[in-house]
Amino acid sequence: ILNDLLKHLSLAIKTPTLYEVAVIDQLTGLYTKRFFVQEIGQQLRIAHRHGTPFTLILMDIDRFKSVNDTYGHLAGDECLHEVANTIGGGLRRPADILARYGGEEFVVVLPYIENENALYLAEQIRKRVDLQPMQADGNELHVTISIGVSSVTPTDQDDRKDLIAAADIALYEAKNTGRNKVCNAGQLTVHEGSSAAS
Ligand code: GH3
Ligand code: MG
Ligand code: MG
Repeated sequence: ILNDLLKHLSLAIKTPTLYEVAVIDQLTGLYTKRFFVQEIGQQLRIAHRHGTPFTLILMDIDRFKSVNDTYGHLAGDECLHEVANTIGGGLRRPADILARYGGEEFVVVLPYIENENALYLAEQIRKRVDLQPMQADGNELHVTISIGVSSVTPTDQDDRKDLIAAADIALYEAKNTGRNKVCNAGQLTVHEGSSAAS
């Protein structure tokens, strides 16, 4: 009976459902971009209804291509997983949604969080990664991330693209001004109906 139970359990663990495949990224164990897009839309609607603030943190590993070039793609995968874990370890609230946004890009959705508090949190995450030695195929390496932050108190339901675009511009600025830093797009001012056409 115990054997059957164990077999059953390990099957349950090893065979993800279709829903899990769509929602959980297999390499990092984080949420997928698909889930993030769904979640941010829902959270923005809630924030709109309650008039609560909302922040996005967009992160990209610095010079990650060189990790792959130096240690190989599998070591790169291992390193990516560790960076994801390290970022996740810096988030405490169950409401914070951490997703893999692209190859070596991550995003955090922070409902109810003001720009100022999010900036502090982003800086904490940046430091965590900076201070945590990562593993890649038995090698210890120093990895850093660049971060863009943007906030809004939603006034309509179509702020998602504006918010992501603003965080992306801030991230780009962080990359262009030395990397391993946080740049802030600040508080977006969205006028009623201004982005309704997007
Ligand atoms: P930058 O500081 O400008 O972000 O430099 P970068 O090298 O990180 O940026 P670039 O966009 O040129 O390269 C991203 C690299 O991330 C290239 C790609 O091979 C690697 N990458 C993306 N996804 C994965 C993955 O799933 N596994 C591994 N091993 N590498 C990945
Ligand atoms: Mg990138
Ligand atoms: Mg990168």
